[in-house]
Amino acid sequence: MKARVVHLYADYLNIYADRGNIAVLARRAAWRGHELDVVNVSIGDPFDPGECDLLYIGGGQDREQALVTADLASKADALHAAVAGGAAMLAVCGGYQLLGRFYRDREGAELLGIGLLPLHTIAGERRMIGDVLLDCDWAGQTLAGFENHAGRTVLDAGARPLGRVVHGFGNDGESGFEGCRLDRVVGTYLHGPLLPRNPWLADWLLGCALAHAAGDPEAPALEALGDELEADAHAVAASRARKRGGRPA
Ligand code: GLN
Repeated sequence: MKARVVHLYADYLNIYADRGNIAVLARRAAWRGHELDVVNVSIGDPFDPGECDLLYIGGGQDREQALVTADLASKADALHAAVAGGAAMLAVCGGYQLLGRFYRDREGAELLGIGLLPLHTIAGERRMIGDVLLDCDWAGQTLAGFENHAGRTVLDAGARPLGRVVHGFGNDGESGFEGCRLDRVVGTYLHGPLLPRNPWLADWLLGCALAHAAGDPEAPALEALGDELEADAHAVAASRARKRGGRPA
């Protein structure tokens, strides 16, 4: 099968090798005989909500986030329509913050988000930096990655986090939770890139995208891969988080 992936603002929001997440998704699809058709959509580019099965947006400094907000706002309705139509989405750090209602930076400037996720973010004085380990009980899995953000993200009451912080700061260094999950939309602070050391999440997103491409509500079962290297990478990242992660929740 072929699934259509839209990479938003790859030329502005791509730190800590976030674009590596696309490479992992494409390779894991190809190993199962599927294909990802990846299109970059940036400032001034058209976006057709009916033309994508998976959306991806990476992280970036406050400056880059400020540069894309006006264009992102102009695409807000179409992005809402794409997600309402069942397209999956992965948003990392700065991109994750802009899926909420707003991100207020350290100078107090408010960057408008598109309100796709039930949350808002306010920058604090101290950056939250380090390796992170999460427990994702909804998937019976753990996630390991790296965070570096000034933003403190506050989820609305009833909103579902991506995971419980085992080691690290997470959304705000206090709630004990990280990220946000809404149906097929996943937002997280975890860089690394995230997916090479967390193949289960890559396959979850891939399954959602292929299901959408097939017009089938159920994600097709993806043939299991060995994932030895990925498991080692996860173990190394998890042990670093145990040794170095921020103060445990
Ligand atoms: N600029 C945002 C912050 O500092 C996001 C940073 C990032 O994407 N790593 O919180």
